[in-house]
Amino acid sequence: MQQFQQYIGGAFSDGSARFESLDPATGDVWALMPEARSADVAAAVTAARDAFCAPAWADMTASARGKLLYRLADLIAENAQTLAQLETRDTGKIIRETSAQVAYVAEYYRYYAGLADKIEGAHLPIDKPDMDVWLRREPVGVVAAVVPWNSQLFLSAVKIGPALAAGCTVVLKASEDGPAPMLEFARIFDQAGFPPGVLNVITGFGPECGAVLTRHPDVDHVAFTGGPETARHIVRNSAENLASTSLELGGKSPFVVFEDADIESAVNAQISGIFAATGQSCVAGSRLIVANQIKDTFLARLKEKAECIVIGAPDDMATEVGPLCTRNQLTTAVDVIAASVEAGATVITGGTPIDRVGHFFRPTIIDCSDAPDAPCLTTEFFGPVLSVLGFDTEAEALDIANDTAFGLAAGVFTKDLTRAHRMIRGIQAGIVWVNTYRAVSPMAPFGGHGLSGHGREGGMQAALDYTKVKAVWVRTSDDPIPDPFVMR
Ligand code: NAD
Repeated sequence: MQQFQQYIGGAFSDGSARFESLDPATGDVWALMPEARSADVAAAVTAARDAFCAPAWADMTASARGKLLYRLADLIAENAQTLAQLETRDTGKIIRETSAQVAYVAEYYRYYAGLADKIEGAHLPIDKPDMDVWLRREPVGVVAAVVPWNSQLFLSAVKIGPALAAGCTVVLKASEDGPAPMLEFARIFDQAGFPPGVLNVITGFGPECGAVLTRHPDVDHVAFTGGPETARHIVRNSAENLASTSLELGGKSPFVVFEDADIESAVNAQISGIFAATGQSCVAGSRLIVANQIKDTFLARLKEKAECIVIGAPDDMATEVGPLCTRNQLTTAVDVIAASVEAGATVITGGTPIDRVGHFFRPTIIDCSDAPDAPCLTTEFFGPVLSVLGFDTEAEALDIANDTAFGLAAGVFTKDLTRAHRMIRGIQAGIVWVNTYRAVSPMAPFGGHGLSGHGREGGMQAALDYTKVKAVWVRTSDDPIPDPFVMR
């Protein structure tokens, strides 16, 4: 059986304990993972603090940090296949997606490598003639990065990349579900030549590892991706030492299709928006809001396509929908659908687990037109389940789109330019895609508001968010200071 190790202070070690990792496609134990408990967490934070203060990192030029990040990106690209295979094995995410995603992860590191020496301070046109005032941007310090199991390489890249570019050091806590790709990533990171302790990678469970890390007094910033309930714990934990937080949480994203939309494009985007990654995506377009004029036609086409989706083993290149990562998710999908049907919703296709080994669930479309309070419209969960509502007017479409406590992403399909702009303005979400869905880029900020969290990952702002501003005042006059009791 394969065994993985944690990475602390530039050395690999077994954790305080070990736990078994299951293959989601078979339900079998396939690997042993190092479980970090409080002693390991403390060692990782100490290593990150030491590295943050040590001249090898603290005095390194920004350009040199950038070069190391470029080297890391190259190593990721060279090892992309191994990383993708491990992610597929440990999380059940299909190989088609993990292969494409890992290749793109390297681009995120390249983007932040390039930004490292472009994080600039500023000079202020201050209102005093004998003062020179400027702003230094300094690294925030030790960052605790906590990620969920889905797309861990990607979700950690958008934290590690900008944090290291800014000069911070990082303790990354990989999810207890499917941590293999992150532990392998640590091996690759080790070859890039960073000073020891700049990145530390541990894994473990919420209470014994995540909670201990996020309330550690030597952590300056917590960058979290996960569910809203865990986020509440994180915020309480970080209150111990008033560490800053950035929270990337879930969504219940609207996918609005107007009657003039290109139906084939919108159907394909909706299929990808909800069934890609087996619906285990924070930006999943899980609420279809479709004009009543075209609802029947649209749903017929969607159903036809959904029923042709190739379901299979995640490591098969032909597979389009694989298993859910954990048994819990399967149970949640079953429960939410049962409660929604009870509330009056109609299952158009799917709605049940697949009778085979592993956590497989049928791509599901559920019409909630007669059940506006159905739990599937409000419950954020990971699964290939699309809830549908119809609308008659643009105002109604906008109301339904915004009828959510989340605010992560939204899709709008229309050929009417002015209507598209009104929708862009009206929709409460951190990302709006028009006539496309699920597009991402290192250059574009990613994140939401409301129960979807706060802070942005990706883009220049993300690197600035890992800095703190120091205002520097220099008096340029040699004249004696006149009145010591007057604030200057
Ligand atoms: P989760 O919140 O259960 O776990 C996320 C991480 O938090 C794990 O590493 C876990 O061990 C850790 N954790 C758990 N309890 C903790 C505690 N008390 N203190 C500190 N850490 C703790 O999430 P999950 O079920 O693994 O992942 C799915 C969730 O992630 C969904 O809600 C999804 O929408 C969200 N998500 C958001 C984004 C985004 O970018 N907005 C991306 C992917 C996933």
